[in-house]
Amino acid sequence: MVVSVPKPAEELLEMLDGYKNMFIVACGGCPVGCDSGGMKRVDELTEFFPQNGKEVTGNVLIDFLCNKALVGSKLIYHLKKLKKSQAVLVVSCGIGVQATGKMVDIPVVPANDTLSSQGMQGLWPSSERCAGCGTCYLAFTGGICPITSCSKSLINGMCGGQHDGKCEVETERDCGWNLIYLRLKEVGKLDNLKKIPHLRDFRKMDVSDKERHTTRWALEKEVIYEAPKQSSEKEEA
Ligand code: SF4
Ligand code: SF4
Repeated sequence: MVVSVPKPAEELLEMLDGYKNMFIVACGGCPVGCDSGGMKRVDELTEFFPQNGKEVTGNVLIDFLCNKALVGSKLIYHLKKLKKSQAVLVVSCGIGVQATGKMVDIPVVPANDTLSSQGMQGLWPSSERCAGCGTCYLAFTGGICPITSCSKSLINGMCGGQHDGKCEVETERDCGWNLIYLRLKEVGKLDNLKKIPHLRDFRKMDVSDKERHTTRWALEKEVIYEAPKQSSEKEEA
């Protein structure tokens, strides 16, 4: 399971500063398992934002946001609402936020911080997209992770070494910050480059024992319901 926790309310408002409204996309997978998502959280957010001067244009719960094809096939039914939304708030791990960002030409904003992925990249496993860094920067970087897309995992912009869009460290690889720049330009958010990102809070990286489930946790789980024992007399009768 990819473990994520809700970002604090103040941070959500900070990330959505300048947006009048947003559409909420929530993952029905891991965040439900670690109690940081699902319809319960969507309902809470749908109540919270109007109280803070922002409109929620609609919402959708999709089984696994890390499945890019599934995200696209479900979002297509919400195009009308998406078209009048200035941002998409994504309730999931960093992989789900990035998959959603690939499907819409509107800025995506993470509602959660991802703490641990145990190397899993969900149903989009071709390369590492989220390292579970504990402080998600995707709202500022156009939905492209600076930790995994930049060889130096820089969070405050390009190092200056890129050449023709390629990284100076791994010359075959696209420079992550060049991709971030191009994406921000595309969605009209180049101003984000002037913002100073939060420093990572390493205390968050301490994933509690309860949350250290592996993908096989269900196999190890103890029985959650014990059927009442039938008495032997009844069985005989
Ligand atoms: S910034 Fe990147 S590594 Fe950190 S939580 Fe977001 S997607 Fe994951
Ligand atoms: S060239 Fe780009 S991807 Fe490579 S280390 Fe510098 S900023 Fe990061």
